[in-house]
Amino acid sequence: MSFWVYENRVVNKTRVHTASCPYCQEGRGLHGGGDRTTGSWTGPLASLEEANRVAAQFARSDNRCCLHCIPIAARSPVHLLSHARVAESDFSAINPRPVASEEHTCLVSLRWEIAGHLSLEPGEKIQFPTVTEKPGLYSIRISLPNDNELRYIGETDNLKRRFKNYRNPGPTQTTSIRINESITHHLKFGATALVAIATDFWLGHEAAVLDVDLREKSVRRLFENLTISLDASRGIRTLNL
Ligand SMILES: [Zn+2]
Repeated sequence: MSFWVYENRVVNKTRVHTASCPYCQEGRGLHGGGDRTTGSWTGPLASLEEANRVAAQFARSDNRCCLHCIPIAARSPVHLLSHARVAESDFSAINPRPVASEEHTCLVSLRWEIAGHLSLEPGEKIQFPTVTEKPGLYSIRISLPNDNELRYIGETDNLKRRFKNYRNPGPTQTTSIRINESITHHLKFGATALVAIATDFWLGHEAAVLDVDLREKSVRRLFENLTISLDASRGIRTLNL
């Protein structure tokens, strides 16, 4: 395995990647590599230690390993510390001060995990799969007996609590009541419903992976809206209003 260092001159930082990382691609990055005014790739380097040394030589204010390709266990404590310190300011890199005729490409990525099927208990209570209390996105895919498919995408700061609300919606929770009634109706008439959740998200920019804070509703909405738009473009019917 070899490593590359990306020096980002726009936001004053370096990122160490493995050569095979999609953001690195053997030093070609997202923009075809080479030495550009915005930054440059150095590599291949034989070890992570060497890559970290090279990164430090650029004397940028923020030197870290890529969150996407280098496991946390492999990063040095120094990296973890600096990582925690800059996590907040990093987000500004997505939308830097506009520069005339400069183009910004952003790579958005999330991973869905199947949580399980929904079923109706006696008394028509919906049984949800057990999920984490983490913030994230969820997708409920309802397959109708006529082979049509409906999908509902949502975001929440607590997945477990959200499913509890869908199971037992309060009298003022109009969305939860609507989703509860829709799922109950379809399950009663022979549909199956599969739940997937996503708690891992990445934003890639200028060949670096930005840490995203899912505790922020605006961040969750970004990924939610993107997923809904993708479904719409594929012709999947949605329960999102
Ligand atoms: Zn990487």
